[in-house]
Amino acid sequence: MDKNNPFENALSVVEAAAKKAKISAEDLEHLSNPHRLAKVTLHLKRDTGKTQIVHGYRVQHNDWLGPYKGGIRYHQQVDLDEVKALALWMTIKNAVVDVPFGGGKGGIEIDPRTLSKKELENLTREFVKHIAPIIGPNVDVPAPDVNTNAEIMAWFADEYSKIIGKKTPAVVTGKPINQGGSEGREEATGLGGFYVLEELIKKMKMKKPITVAIQGFGNVGSFLADLCFQNGYNVIALSDSKGGIYEPNNLGFNVESVKKCKKDTGSLRNCYCQGDVCEIAKKGCFISNEELLELPVDILIPAALEGVITGKNAKKINAKIIFEMANGPTTAEADEILNKKGIIVVPDVLANAGGVTVSYFEWYQNIHKEKWALEKVRTKLKEKMVKAFDDVWATHKSEKVDLRTAAYIIALKRLTSKPH
Ligand code: NAD
Repeated sequence: MDKNNPFENALSVVEAAAKKAKISAEDLEHLSNPHRLAKVTLHLKRDTGKTQIVHGYRVQHNDWLGPYKGGIRYHQQVDLDEVKALALWMTIKNAVVDVPFGGGKGGIEIDPRTLSKKELENLTREFVKHIAPIIGPNVDVPAPDVNTNAEIMAWFADEYSKIIGKKTPAVVTGKPINQGGSEGREEATGLGGFYVLEELIKKMKMKKPITVAIQGFGNVGSFLADLCFQNGYNVIALSDSKGGIYEPNNLGFNVESVKKCKKDTGSLRNCYCQGDVCEIAKKGCFISNEELLELPVDILIPAALEGVITGKNAKKINAKIIFEMANGPTTAEADEILNKKGIIVVPDVLANAGGVTVSYFEWYQNIHKEKWALEKVRTKLKEKMVKAFDDVWATHKSEKVDLRTAAYIIALKRLTSKPH
């Protein structure tokens, strides 16, 4: 196995769980091979008038439980192996949280920060034109992921609707609320994670103060950080792509002020002891993203990119719990080391499943022409997340396996128990 290949890493977990779940060799082979790999060449018109070639991908991993479903990522490091791994994780995640979707994922190999808004819109519409023949509300339903948001999803739905000549909001989720989006979708991944975190804390009988470090302060990381702050956790370290801030007295930052400061100044590092960011903590310091991972905290939450906890740094992790809000932050090699060290790892396919759960609610509302109130979305999200956590915890105990293997066992059983 190539330790740096995210798809092979993902497959190694499936293979280990397949033995425990007693699924057939035929089903395992099927799940090891995505149904479709689409690589498209996009001609991006730059504002200068020049054309730039950009590569885009859509991987449809499996649709036994329903239409392929998974986000679209815009990042300079996107490649086929990454998108294949992300698509496989979506198949597992949707089964863990028990929504009627299969797994898919997409991406464009570009740093969107280098594009003007017009270029970003052109690129998105160009991508839709290329993949329109293979997506649709009952076939494959994309959503936002790293560096994509509600506005991009609105361009996506609009372009698809133009192509097929019919208004089709259900082709994509994560849209703005006034364009077919669901109440509660924006914060869903963070909130879903928070529901799971609270259940875990109860099971482990942990008492506050509980210290938390979060890597990544985008959609997922910032919502979860805020929820932790508002509910009495001490968020003592935060980071984004430019680096992090750390409060070594274990009292924690005022995350609401950090959020406002990051919005106003563009970078977390500008927020080091600015205004009332340190209203609670009187002292703090800068840290790198690597240092953040090794802090002595109760809960470490990777919420940025995959592959950050590796065979190299796993030995140096000092957290009691790793709560994976990013997809695939821990390599298979690191997982083994963490398990041996007795560190509890709450897997991505459970922890961050809140996003796709509310995506399912959005899709359902579009298909049935309904509009749910925020309270209804939150209640249903909580039910789904708590049930998924309880299922995983029960399998973890009954099978005497780590939480990741437990989640995969549940998913593989659900995937293979229906006719396919
Ligand atoms: P985002 O683009 O909103 O935010 C990403 C954050 O990570 C930003 O703060 C960015 O500065 C930071 N970052 C980027 N590169 C980094 C690096 N090298 N080191 C440290 N930080 C870095 O993305 P998001 O939607 O918050 O997604 C974050 C993770 O959560 C991804 O792994 C994504 O696949 C996963 N996820 C997202 C959703 C969702 O609904 N958005 C759902 C499930 C899982």
